[in-house]
Amino acid sequence: MSERVVYMDNNATTRVAPEVVEEMLPYFSELYGNPSSMHSFGGQVGRKIAEARERIAALIGAQPEEIIFTSCGTESDSTAILSALQSQPGKRHVVTTRVEHPAVKNLCEHLDKLFGHKHRVTALPVDREGLLDLEQYEKSLTEDTAIVSVMWANNETGVIFPIEEMAALARERGILFHTDAVQAVGKIPINLAEVPVDFLSISGHKLHAPKGVGVLYVRKGTPFFPFLVGGHQERGRRGGTENVASIIGLGKACELAAQRMNVENTKVRALRDKLEAGLLEKIPHALRNGHKDKRLPNTTSVSFEFVEGEAILLHLDRYGICASSGSACTSGSLEPSHVLRAMGVPFTMAHGSIRFSLSVYNTEEEVDFVLDKLPPIIANLRELSPFWQAEHRGAVGGAGCKCSCSS
Ligand SMILES: *Cc1c(COP(=O)(O)O)cnc(C)c1O
Repeated sequence: MSERVVYMDNNATTRVAPEVVEEMLPYFSELYGNPSSMHSFGGQVGRKIAEARERIAALIGAQPEEIIFTSCGTESDSTAILSALQSQPGKRHVVTTRVEHPAVKNLCEHLDKLFGHKHRVTALPVDREGLLDLEQYEKSLTEDTAIVSVMWANNETGVIFPIEEMAALARERGILFHTDAVQAVGKIPINLAEVPVDFLSISGHKLHAPKGVGVLYVRKGTPFFPFLVGGHQERGRRGGTENVASIIGLGKACELAAQRMNVENTKVRALRDKLEAGLLEKIPHALRNGHKDKRLPNTTSVSFEFVEGEAILLHLDRYGICASSGSACTSGSLEPSHVLRAMGVPFTMAHGSIRFSLSVYNTEEEVDFVLDKLPPIIANLRELSPFWQAEHRGAVGGAGCKCSCSS
């Protein structure tokens, strides 16, 4: 691997901010008390957790009592959806989308096994730009619908859904609404005083806090069933001794995110736009995935026709450039991601999709570096592709493989 790292995979995970590390350190060493203890040595830790709860609530326009600490975004998603089904045993319909993170998608596909009875799951389609049809959404809501679970922003394309309108439509019908806001929190302004969601999921490691800590927001008055039943922690809503240092780190990360929101929407957006425009201009037969404007400021997903995403990533890796591809290598076959398939991205394009996700730590020099290195990588890979040759050079394609991979 190269010495230098150009990290543009922030939707996968982020660097823990140095200010966050600093805030956490005492809670690994001298301040090791248990916040549930009666003595003041533990009590001072409890006060710091209360401060973290306030900082997180402030970032999303919530009340501190509406914040429940969990172990990750996945736990928050599971807790919300399972709680809604347990608190309304008569209702067995769930509305979601075809582009959710596996934390929601796979859970919805496993409900029958978990509960031992049949559920109906409506997974709403998206259009070519990754957007939902609100009329179709409204029609999907029934008397039997227990919960709607729709992500605020998509992790692969950055596309933002109209959560305010969608939550309001559910609320009018008395249906609980959950949003996986793991990619949205810290990147775009969120004010839950104005958006009637009942549950919202956050993950620490997507916003410069550590891995292994998350939050589930539960609106006051929402019926709630804990996922982990045990001690009285989190006022009986989530048993288990608190991940003290990480919770304090997440509080600090939320305070930083609030301060940096305008940097995210100016500097980071400008870098993303420069990268995207440069790639589309320098590389022929490339296209952007996802609506141009209804998108997170840090994310771009670009498809390059007739090349393999994995091959591109390996070449980028030699320069220390970290990005991710829009396909998952399962059982030896490279399947384009469910998100790009739901958007109807053609196979020859979906296989060659790369996601760059930036952060406040990226620089213009890094963007220029990628714009310098990626075009020749794509050109070289296309030279090796019989399908590219057949399509663009009039040559006869190689035998067998339909997916332009080298096997
Ligand atoms: C990363 C991610 C999750 C999962 O969060 P973990 O803390 O890693 O469990 C859920 N939803 C979305 C949209 C994500 O990007």
